[in-house]
Amino acid sequence: MKFYYLSKQANDDGVVSIHADSCEQLPSILERVYLGIFDNSRLAAEAALSKYQVLNLETCFCCK
Ligand SMILES: [Zn+2]
Repeated sequence: MKFYYLSKQANDDGVVSIHADSCEQLPSILERVYLGIFDNSRLAAEAALSKYQVLNLETCFCCK
């Protein structure tokens, strides 16, 4: 189980990213939204989709 966060800031392509708390790319505390504790990034992504109606979502490459 890991803590997962959603980036508040979309990238240039309008994609927001999901990061685990162990991630080196984790945005600063002001630039991320706490999603919850999940077994894997897929579950975290599902939670983000249902909770925030995010259209373009990706998981950070090292957090998959
Ligand atoms: Zn990562």
